[in-house]
Amino acid sequence: MQHRAEARIDLFALASNISILKATSQVDLLAVVKADAYGHGLVEIGLAAEKSGADWLGVALLEEAISLRAHGVRIPILAWLVPPGSDFDSAAKHDIDVAVASLGTLKEISQLPNKPRIHIEVDTGMTRGGFLDEWDELLKADFSKVEVVGIFSHFARADEAGQQQNLDQLTEFKKKIEQLKAVGINPLIKHLSNSAATLLDSDSTFDMVRTGIAMYGLSPDVKAMGDSKKLGLKPVMQLRAKLHLVKKVPAGSPVGYGATAVTEKETKIGVVAMGYADGIPRIAQGAGVFIDGKRSPIIGRVSMDQFVVDLGVSSTANSGDWVVVFGDGSHGEYTADDWGNASLSINYEIVTRIGPRVPRIYAPHVY
Ligand SMILES: *Cc1c(COP(=O)(O)O)cnc(C)c1O
Repeated sequence: MQHRAEARIDLFALASNISILKATSQVDLLAVVKADAYGHGLVEIGLAAEKSGADWLGVALLEEAISLRAHGVRIPILAWLVPPGSDFDSAAKHDIDVAVASLGTLKEISQLPNKPRIHIEVDTGMTRGGFLDEWDELLKADFSKVEVVGIFSHFARADEAGQQQNLDQLTEFKKKIEQLKAVGINPLIKHLSNSAATLLDSDSTFDMVRTGIAMYGLSPDVKAMGDSKKLGLKPVMQLRAKLHLVKKVPAGSPVGYGATAVTEKETKIGVVAMGYADGIPRIAQGAGVFIDGKRSPIIGRVSMDQFVVDLGVSSTANSGDWVVVFGDGSHGEYTADDWGNASLSINYEIVTRIGPRVPRIYAPHVY
């Protein structure tokens, strides 16, 4: 079937990024595939990451982990957003490790037979997930009914090299490891680093790194760390759409809802067959599409299913032509970074929110 839009997912780029991150960290790599693999496709990326050398997969939800197992993933999987009342039975049955961040969860999971595998999550200063006020009590808890495989925490500002909070979080993590050791629990796998820390902070590597955004070939923070190219990473997703319509319009034409833009001179506009229903941010201004070797900026507001670009009066583009919405930038295309900038957002949100109506096309098939 012919699509009106598609996200092309380059699995060679994924493999290349995984190799680079493994070579950088020199330890096991947990490929973060939560949120439909940041919009790239949970199962396809999970299987491709396994094939490309990832040692673990990491997800937020238990459902995501179960889906990976159902599709044949064999490497260990950690799910870290598994609140009390979750189906811990299924987790154990599918050989899925779960993060424990509260005494309530520990108690619940301890009811299961066969010592379920857990990773203790500690809050070292981000003030989000992980043990904090219950920590002292945790040190007195009964761990005999579980297998404590790992201990981990998460950085809040790893993209800011030299930031004191990173050192504080690292110190706190080491302290928690020692305190746990003192009560006889010494988890095999200690893990702290996300993508930014993997690239910037070798002191925080421990036994495994958890990489998301960099594995998808995007920079954790373009301003602080430079873009994909600077980091040697290859963007995995290219987003394309068709021009639904190309037409000539006179100067002074108000474009789109609210007439927020008016053409300055006679021009050709292109109606792109994607909108905010597909994850194109409604507020995006300053991004656009790439066609005929040049950039054509958005004009007017993004609608639900379509947005309008200014092609210029001499454009040779036709209705039905493909345009690149974002890509790796090597030919001058807009990038996911550009779209983040244009939307008061970041590349993470741009790729992750590409909607389910947009088919993901995988090339090449490496699994
Ligand atoms: C999302 C997430 C990561 C990956 O972060 P990136 O910045 O994309 O590398 C790692 N660890 C945890 C706990 C996460 O939630």
